[in-house]
Amino acid sequence: MNDRSLLADEAPLVFAGSPLDRCEVERRDPELIAGFREHPKARLILLVQGDPILTPGNQLAKSAFAEAQWHARPHSIVFLGKDETGPLFAAEADTAVFDAPAVPARQAGMTMPHEDSAIYAQAKSLLAWHERHQFCAVCGHRSDVAAGGAKRVCPSCGAEHFPRVDPVVIMLVIDGERCLLGRQAEWPEGMWSALAGFVEPAETLEEACAREVREETGVVVDIASIRYVFTQPWPFPSSIMVGLVAKATKTEVKVDKQELEQARWFSREEVRAMLEGRHAEAELPPSIAVARRLTELWAAEKI
Ligand SMILES: [Zn+2]
Repeated sequence: MNDRSLLADEAPLVFAGSPLDRCEVERRDPELIAGFREHPKARLILLVQGDPILTPGNQLAKSAFAEAQWHARPHSIVFLGKDETGPLFAAEADTAVFDAPAVPARQAGMTMPHEDSAIYAQAKSLLAWHERHQFCAVCGHRSDVAAGGAKRVCPSCGAEHFPRVDPVVIMLVIDGERCLLGRQAEWPEGMWSALAGFVEPAETLEEACAREVREETGVVVDIASIRYVFTQPWPFPSSIMVGLVAKATKTEVKVDKQELEQARWFSREEVRAMLEGRHAEAELPPSIAVARRLTELWAAEKI
């Protein structure tokens, strides 16, 4: 695994680089969190069914808490942390009393300043988790929000439940001057991307990478060659995308049609053409995606 200097001179990834202090210690004190709501500079971000509201300048709308709290769905307010202005909260908008145009999440991610996209990603993942985990997974009783939304506690059996983060490996498999890309049948025509898959229990990131590549394409990678490139929070609903690069040792492609429609090797020249939009038939995902950043780095011979 290499260090982050690989990306030091690169533009920040969408959804990464939050400026917030998540206030781990203050969260333990419910009175302190309640007091933050009274702070004159406290602000609230409202999401409309998971999508953000942007200002005319394409920033994430952060409204004064005192007024915006009345537009929040009851019991949905969570504490995100503090920035240099003050405390910041998030909630799902109560669409019965609040009607504002929201921007679809992926589009907003590419439009917002990246600090805002990271704050939004935290809000989206956290609110989605609370929405789906209102009952104790141990005993089935309704659980309570605790630590300002950083966990839930069951009043019946005492179990604590923490927001989940699901690791996904996404890897560019290399064979000298070519790389392996795949496409799924439901993607837009001509769209190709790096291979990816969820990490399974009791599996290292390297093992997950090698397994997914083998399962989907029959290609075998050298586990010792796998290098970490970067991670990106991916709030759909709460993944962490782990970008890797791996070297192939067996390059024959035999696609598992249940996973992929096609997979094939692309030359570095072809990938450059795809990135520049001048490939006759193939293109890569938009700039929001980890796969694009991996191919950009490889095309520039940085990985
Ligand atoms: Zn319980």
